[in-house]
Amino acid sequence: MTSPVTVIGLGPMGATMARTFLKNGHPTTVWNRTASKAASLVEEGATLAPTAAEALAASELVVVSQTDYKAMYESLDGADLEGRVIVNLSSGSPGELRRASAWASERGGVLLTGGIMVPPPGIGQPGAYVFYSGPEQTLDPHREALGELGDVTFVGEDPGLAMLYYQSQLYLFWSTMTAYMHAVALLGTAGVSAQEFRPFAASLLVALGGDGPMGFVKHITEEIEAGVYSGEDNTLHMQAVGADHVVEAAREAGIDVANPTALRDLFWRAVDAGHGEDGLSAVIEAVRRR
Ligand code: NDP
Repeated sequence: MTSPVTVIGLGPMGATMARTFLKNGHPTTVWNRTASKAASLVEEGATLAPTAAEALAASELVVVSQTDYKAMYESLDGADLEGRVIVNLSSGSPGELRRASAWASERGGVLLTGGIMVPPPGIGQPGAYVFYSGPEQTLDPHREALGELGDVTFVGEDPGLAMLYYQSQLYLFWSTMTAYMHAVALLGTAGVSAQEFRPFAASLLVALGGDGPMGFVKHITEEIEAGVYSGEDNTLHMQAVGADHVVEAAREAGIDVANPTALRDLFWRAVDAGHGEDGLSAVIEAVRRR
């Protein structure tokens, strides 16, 4: 028989996680502050625990998915964590996760921190993965059950690491998608539709991750690792002037200028620090200093 699992928090994510465990044959106990959200899961076979403490008692493996870590403290305050493996897949800051790890240990439990890299429909689907950090020997016996949610990607013992990976991916995603929206808005002011522009954006995004001349993820990685920012073909100064023009274009078009201005300022900070004749990779120097 498959191992029992408890899921605490039944927002869009937690409810889909509970459903995924159920579908894969795990006896699943659920608890949510607002109990009514468990109704459909109970119809599908889940057990609704009347209290968070009883939900904890039902399974060694307890998956938490709530808005933030404050919700976990409020939900589990005073509960006995002895022998429990709490896997919290909620969002928080890395420092908060480190403190939460100590909080769980003081109460006899072990906290595994995680960052899940898919929205609800992707849970348990091919391509789904979850970053985990904390004590690996605690994770190992639960790899199979947790693997129902997505590939188990262990990144290290430091409890803050899973969130650092998660937030790095999230920042990349958000900033790329908002840059796309900026591009669509800018072109839209000249009557170009998003559909007309989409193929150009899509091919650039693919090329950035590849090995060709536009393979900038690889190129910048290698330059950052080497600490050498070649500006031979295109200097950062030239690009900072180009970024000035992007800000001006946004201003002329009457759209948001805050994001392009932040990017332009970052470029000029790196130029002013002496990297004008270096290449784009030199921007890392400005990013690393607050
Ligand atoms: P929410 O972030 O809105 O979380 C809702 C859940 O948190 C509900 O179960 C809610 O209970 C509970 N909750 C909030 N505050 C408290 C509290 N003080 N005490 C007890 N329970 C509380 O929804 P999601 O399911 O979308 O997200 C869950 C986590 O997953 C978040 O941290 C999010 O950042 C992360 N995430 C979300 C993704 C997504 O696409 N949705 C993708 C990847 C990660 P109640 O029902 O009673 O309000």
